Amino acid sequence: MLFEDITILDENLDVKEHQYVLTEGERITYIGDTCPDATGHKRYDGKNKLLMTAFINLHSHTPMTLMRGYGENLSLNDWLNKKIFPYEDKLTSEDVYHGTLLGIAEMLRFGIVSTSDMYYFCEDMLKAFLESGAKVNLSRGITCFSDASYHDLPAYEENKLLIREYHGLNQDQIKIDMSIHGEYTNTERTILEISEHAKEAGLPLHIHVSETESEHKECMARHNGMTPIEYFNHLGVLDSRVLAAHCVHLSGEDFAIMKERNVSVASCPASNLKLASGICDVKKLMDYGINVGIGTDSVASNNSLNMIEEIKLFALLQKVRQNNPAVITPKEALYAATKAGAIAQGRPDCGALKVGNRADLIVLDKKEPYWTPVHNLINNLVYSASGTDVCLTMADGKILYQDGNFPTIDVEKLARVQALSQKEI
Ligand SMILES: [Zn+2]
Repeated sequence: MLFEDITILDENLDVKEHQYVLTEGERITYIGDTCPDATGHKRYDGKNKLLMTAFINLHSHTPMTLMRGYGENLSLNDWLNKKIFPYEDKLTSEDVYHGTLLGIAEMLRFGIVSTSDMYYFCEDMLKAFLESGAKVNLSRGITCFSDASYHDLPAYEENKLLIREYHGLNQDQIKIDMSIHGEYTNTERTILEISEHAKEAGLPLHIHVSETESEHKECMARHNGMTPIEYFNHLGVLDSRVLAAHCVHLSGEDFAIMKERNVSVASCPASNLKLASGICDVKKLMDYGINVGIGTDSVASNNSLNMIEEIKLFALLQKVRQNNPAVITPKEALYAATKAGAIAQGRPDCGALKVGNRADLIVLDKKEPYWTPVHNLINNLVYSASGTDVCLTMADGKILYQDGNFPTIDVEKLARVQALSQKEI
C-alpha cells in the first residue's frame, strides 16, 4: 500500500510532513518525500492523517475482557479471591477463544498490533491470534502452591506442545515465551524447574515482579531479606531474558541487578492505579538504562486496552512521583509504547517506522478539534489525542482494522461474548 502525502513519525519519532510510505508484502520498502513508483499498489490519501509505528502492549491477560467491569472497588485480595479466581474456575475453552478475540479487536482498534500475554487455554488463544493476524508473545501462566514438580503439572506438557507446534509460526507472528506467574504464587521447586526449561528451550520468561508492597516485603521475609529480583537472580532465573511486569516496589540493589541482567520492565500505569498498587519508578529505571515498555494489564483491572490513554498516564504519573513536571518527555513515553516493547519481545525489525522493518503501523485521524493548533504534534498525540483517533491498524503489511471494520475478525463472534460472560458464581 502507498500512503501518499502523509505526516509521519520517523524511526526516531521525529515529525516529517508530506511523506510517501510504501509497504510491500510484510515490509516497509520506501519512506521519502517524493512519490515512488507504486504501480499496482493500493493508495491511501494522507490528508490530515498521521502515520506512525504501531503500539506494542507489554503485559496483558487478553481473555479477561470477559471480566470487564465485573469486580470493582475491592481490595486486591477480595478482588482476586472473591471475584476473579472463582470466575476463572468456570472458564471454558470456548469462553477463552471468544474473550481473546474481543480483546484483540479492542487492541487493534486502539493501534496495538502485538502483545505479551500470560494466561491459560493457550491453544484457544492462539486460534484467535492466528485468525486475526495480530502478533503475540504468549506464555502459559503457571502457579503452584503444592510440592508437586513442574514436570508433573499439565502446564509442562502444554509448554512443550506450544513450543513444538506454535513457536515462530507465520514468520514470528506467534512467539512462545515461558512464565513463572510470580514469586508469591510458586514454590522454589517449580521456579527452578520452569527456569531450567526456559534455558533449555532458549525462551524468555515473563514474570510478575514486586507489583504490591506486601508481595515485595513478604518475599524479603521468606527469603533472608532478598527482594523478588534478588531471589530470582539468586536462583539463576535471570540467566534467561526476563520481562518483569509492574515493578512498582523495587528497592535496594534491584535496579543495578536488572540493568546487569538485561531485564526489561512492563509498566502498567492504569492497573497499578486502579488496584492502588502504587507508581513504578520509571524515571529511575530509565536512568539506569533499563528497557521499559508499557502494558495495559488485563481489562479486569484497567478497564480498557486504550494505549494512548496508557501512554498519557505513564508520562503524567512520573511527574507526580518525581515531583518534577520536566521528567518523561512525550517522545520517551512513545518510545516505551513502541520500540522498547519490540526489544523486550525479541522483535528487532518491529517497533519503528523504518525501511526494511515489518509494516506494523497505524494511522491517526487529526480532524478532531483537540488536534489544533499544532505547536508540537507529539505533544498533541500524547496529551490531547484519543485512542479512537486510530483509523487504520496494519500488521506485517495486512490491514487488520480500518474505519470501524475488522477485515479478519467475525464480528458476530464478538457479539457472543455477552452471553458467554454470564457466569453463576
Ligand atoms: Zn498481570
